[in-house]
Amino acid sequence: RVARAGEAVRRLTRWHDDFPTPGVRFADLTPVFADAEGFHAVIDCLGACAPDADLVAGVDARGFLLGAGVAASLGTGVVAVRKAGKLPPPVLSREYTLEYGSAALEIPADGIDLKGRRVLLLDDVLATGGTLAAAAGLFAAAGAEVVAAAVVLELSALGGRAHQGDYSLTSIVQL
Ligand code: AMP
Repeated sequence: RVARAGEAVRRLTRWHDDFPTPGVRFADLTPVFADAEGFHAVIDCLGACAPDADLVAGVDARGFLLGAGVAASLGTGVVAVRKAGKLPPPVLSREYTLEYGSAALEIPADGIDLKGRRVLLLDDVLATGGTLAAAAGLFAAAGAEVVAAAVVLELSALGGRAHQGDYSLTSIVQL
């Protein structure tokens, strides 16, 4: 399963230098997700990281695709972790720094009972790790437990694992 997903990621990822800002080598996973076998292998792999999760969360925006796919395959609900300003109040908010800039992530502060929930947190790429750490912090602040985090592609040289919290962090491909 990991081998099939990893092969699709290595073969189909579009790389682009100096996007969206100079010095960044951007990994565009669009063709991986558009490929039936690749997408299903990736979804299977990510879901296997936390088969006992009772909620899946995906980070804005490519994490939404993964979150919905994995939630459907595990039979859980899904939460979209949004960039600032997209959700009506009240929200929980966390600032973070990106490989290219800084921003904030938000989840609703009401309407979802997050206390004690076992969350699998997903994103497409792990770079410096700030995004996943901020998202995990939101769920911790809401009383949920992040049981695992998983990404499709880990850019190891950027040291994102240093920000890892008290949860397992899995990547399908490490570069
Ligand atoms: P970071 O917080 O530095 O780990 O950045 C991870 C987030 O930014 C993820 O949501 C990625 O989609 C995006 N990202 C950062 N760097 C890249 C990159 N080189 N290629 C593709 N996406 C990236």
